[in-house]
Amino acid sequence: MKKLIVGNFKMNQTPEESKAYFMRFVSGFTGNRADVVLCPSFLSLPVASFLAKGSLVKIGAQNVSDEEEGAFTGEVSAKMLKNAGVEYVIVGHSERRNKYKETDKLINKKIKTALKNGLKCIFCIGESLTDRNTGKTFEVIRHQIEEGVRGLYENELESVVIAYEPVWAIGTGQNASVKDVENAAKVIRKVIFESYSEKASRDIQVLYGGSLNEKNVAALLNCPGIDGGLFGKISLNVNAFLDIANNLK
Ligand code: PEP
Repeated sequence: MKKLIVGNFKMNQTPEESKAYFMRFVSGFTGNRADVVLCPSFLSLPVASFLAKGSLVKIGAQNVSDEEEGAFTGEVSAKMLKNAGVEYVIVGHSERRNKYKETDKLINKKIKTALKNGLKCIFCIGESLTDRNTGKTFEVIRHQIEEGVRGLYENELESVVIAYEPVWAIGTGQNASVKDVENAAKVIRKVIFESYSEKASRDIQVLYGGSLNEKNVAALLNCPGIDGGLFGKISLNVNAFLDIANNLK
């Protein structure tokens, strides 16, 4: 199976800049080595989905409301995203957990709302440096997974991708080791096995994210149990990201 490569642009690129990026990426992407999901800001989604239409590039959003519609100032609903050509949404990113105080309960509600509206979720989990230094990594990620997928039916997991993103590795230039990633993938699949089934634990897609770059990508994405990667900073460099997506070993 091809690896899944996800680009999280965070709060970068104006719609004009996204237009230039997508024109270049869509025309240069071969789709031979990986499936790709690009997640620009909300405002860039219309131009991104227009330019990606009919290509192999899929579009993701970086956030979604837990509510369906109504008096929720500043929020963007799953239905709006779906209508704008979005296929995936990132939920539970550590920047949202930490800076915007998103709880496991809210993340679980966002996942349910997104799935109900036909969106797939890239569900992020990962321990902080303190968790890691106090030996709590697996306890923390187990808890995040159990709370995040609470109440989901097994068939709904087909639309959920779990991204293991240690907080200390995001945007720091300090990636996890191959062993760390392999162990985390084992724990993730064990939790899914215990909550669902052997089949679900085998089928669920597990990504690694955290300071991925041209040099470490092959080793980290070819770890046993890893199906792809979530990229922040490097995904903003269109040529570097195209090179990764087209030439993944
Ligand atoms: C991220 O924010 O999901 C991420 C992986 O960022 P970076 O690649 O910049 O560490």
